[in-house]
Amino acid sequence: MNGLNKIAIIGGGVTGMAAAYYAKQAGAHVTLYEASDRIGGKIKTVYRDGFVLECGPDGYMARKPTLTELITELGLDDDLVRSKTGTSYIYVRNRLRQMPDGSVMGIPTKFWPMVKTDLFTWRGKFRAGLDLVLPRVYAGSDISLDTFFRARLGSEVVEAMIEPLLSGIYNGTLDDMSIESTFPQFITIEQKTRSLILGMKSLTPPVQAGVKPREAGKFLSLGQGLGVLVEALRPSIDRLCLGTRVTAVRPHEVVLEDGTVESFDGIVLATSPHALGPLLGLPEAERLSSLKRTSSITVLAAFEAADVAALDGTGYVIAKSEGNALTACSWMHKKWPHMAPENKALLRVYIGSAFVPDLLTASDDVIADFALRELRKIQDVGTPLFTRVERHVDTMPQYEVGHKQYVRAFEEAMSTLDGVEACGAILHGVGLPDCVDSAKQAVSRIMTEQAVSV
Ligand SMILES: Cc1cc2nc3c(=O)[nH]c(=O)nc-3n(C[C@H](O)[C@H](O)[C@H](O)COP(=O)(O)OP(=O)(O)OC[C@H]3O[C@@H](n4cnc5c(N)ncnc54)[C@H](O)[C@@H]3O)c2cc1C
Repeated sequence: MNGLNKIAIIGGGVTGMAAAYYAKQAGAHVTLYEASDRIGGKIKTVYRDGFVLECGPDGYMARKPTLTELITELGLDDDLVRSKTGTSYIYVRNRLRQMPDGSVMGIPTKFWPMVKTDLFTWRGKFRAGLDLVLPRVYAGSDISLDTFFRARLGSEVVEAMIEPLLSGIYNGTLDDMSIESTFPQFITIEQKTRSLILGMKSLTPPVQAGVKPREAGKFLSLGQGLGVLVEALRPSIDRLCLGTRVTAVRPHEVVLEDGTVESFDGIVLATSPHALGPLLGLPEAERLSSLKRTSSITVLAAFEAADVAALDGTGYVIAKSEGNALTACSWMHKKWPHMAPENKALLRVYIGSAFVPDLLTASDDVIADFALRELRKIQDVGTPLFTRVERHVDTMPQYEVGHKQYVRAFEEAMSTLDGVEACGAILHGVGLPDCVDSAKQAVSRIMTEQAVSV
């Protein structure tokens, strides 16, 4: 145990819970402080009438291994489910249009589907094709995704396909989003092959024998809901302090709201992004905490299957140009069949950030009615069996241009604080596997520091 015995974790979201697990595995006595009255943070699974309702994240990218490894260590791997896929749609120019076959993250990689699609004009298609001959855009310093993609593929492809697909992941806008911190793989591809189209094409995996490409989804989840993961991590905590807000962190000391000071061998900060600055009092932490964050509202609506127009696929994104208040609609019962009982349908819609501030204080009924009205402009649905509204206030950190530098400065400043480490969505990725990975690394650093200091 390298002389370490008492660890404090601050924040009980997936990052903090994973940190508790790794600390416990290393033999520590773990105390976890959580400001709210529940663990899980953004992960929240609710069960109703046979539906599994994911109010926050619903799955994670299978490609990144740390979370799957953790799930396997916890013995939950038998419950892993892979998302279903199918035709993807974009709502643009007043109707749902199929995404051209072979598009990967909005980048076209096949010639004929791109030629035949009605998503773009001939001019737009020609402009996208210039990607094959244009010089590199990224020149070593951070730029926005908007600048990068417009220069490579032109405005039409960006506005009708890339923006609706990618902006939803961070609940932001492409002109704010740093390419270095959000999708650095596009820089790597451009450096290697210059053309994005050729680079993405070379990365498309060959079709596996016996698997129809459209059935092999890229996302994993748990059949009983992600809440099961949080509960499986709970026994790693020796002392769980719910409803306990930490107000300051100093080397080896945690200060609670009532003024109590508690001492630890190591402290892991796994709070929401805005909490870092006030807790640490470091200018570099304040800088990170003050970066833009966005709020979002999601509405889950359950239906009889017969009351939802039957379409092949798992949902659609909505181009900004349509002026609809929604940015996307997931057909959860198609993407994740375990989430709805037979003959039922479950839709989840995302309300766009421009409409969110006014709606945040409205009642659930008002929000659900508004969302259904917008939804019915796009697809036919009957009267829902029930709806569930979830507000995510100020929670999604925006990785703006320059984000990497702020994180580097923050991590350098942190290295001067003995026995304190930070992890979570504000640093190296907002996805669940990124959060778990950062928790694992933070705990490992604490162990190493301790080993050196004894
Ligand atoms: C609507 C939505 C959908 C998403 N979908 C996906 C998805 O499908 N797949 C995916 O990979 N990612 C998804 N994400 C992103 C992912 O869910 C988050 O990045 C991740 O859950 C963040 O986990 P966390 O533990 O770092 O933070 P949080 O879950 O925010 O937990 C932080 C915890 O710290 C507590 N806390 C804060 N300050 C203090 C304090 N001073 N003292 C004590 N406790 C404190 C908070 O109460 C909170 O419980 C989604 C996010 C949202 C909002």
